[in-house]
Amino acid sequence: MATIRSLLALGNAKLGRAIHHFDLAAVHTCPGRSKTCEAACYATRGRFHTTLVRDRLRWCLAQSKRPDFASRMVHEVRGKGALVVRVHVSGDFYDPEYAGKWLSVFRRCPAATFYFYTRSWRVAEVVPVLEQATALENVRAWYSADVETGLPDPLPERVRVAWLQTDPDEPVAGNLVFRDEPVRGTRPRTALPVVCPNETPAGHRFGVNCGNCGHCWKA
Ligand code: SF4
Repeated sequence: MATIRSLLALGNAKLGRAIHHFDLAAVHTCPGRSKTCEAACYATRGRFHTTLVRDRLRWCLAQSKRPDFASRMVHEVRGKGALVVRVHVSGDFYDPEYAGKWLSVFRRCPAATFYFYTRSWRVAEVVPVLEQATALENVRAWYSADVETGLPDPLPERVRVAWLQTDPDEPVAGNLVFRDEPVRGTRPRTALPVVCPNETPAGHRFGVNCGNCGHCWKA
C-alpha cells in the first residue's frame, strides 16, 4: 500500500508539540542568504544530515514545485485544524512563484496563524509577494538580518527584524536576537533587544519553546 506523506510536520524540540511546520533543504533554497547566516546555519548540521531528514526535505521541495501545492497545503491546514504554522524551520522562499503559493495559503486559511523568518527580503523579485503576505492579519513576518546584511530598509509595516548575532562585540539591532555560537549562553557585552529565551540557560531550565513562548507568533 502506498504511504501518504503529509506536507506538514508537527512539533520539534524547539517548536514544542503543537506547532506545525513545512521545511525545505537550507542554503540552495535561500537566495537571500548571507555568508554569515550560511556559516551559522543550524539546518546544515546534526539531524539535518540524516538520510531520513534529507530525503524528506528533497520530497518537500518537489512538492513545493507542483501546481497543486497551495491547494494541498490549504487542505492539510484545515483538515488538521492547525492553529499555528511555522513556514520553514529550514529553507526559505526561493522564488516569487513559490512565495505566491504561500500567499494563497495564508489568504485561504484565515483561522491559522503563520509565521516565518526570511532573508528573501534581499531578493528583489520576491519582495512584492512578501509585502502582500506581511500585510495579512494572520501572518507574523520576521525579516532576518545580521552584521553583513544590515537592517532591511524600507521595513514594511507589521514586519519585525530578527538579528543573528555571531560575535559578542558586534552591534545588534532589530526586535529579537538569535545568539549563535560562540556567543550563545554568554553574558551579553552590549544592550540587546529580546533574546530568544529558547537559547538562554534560564530558558532551558524553564523548558521554554516556541509553543509556550509565543513571542514570534502571538502578536
Ligand atoms: S522568541 Fe520565543 S517564539 Fe520566538 S523563536 Fe524564541 S522561543 Fe520561539
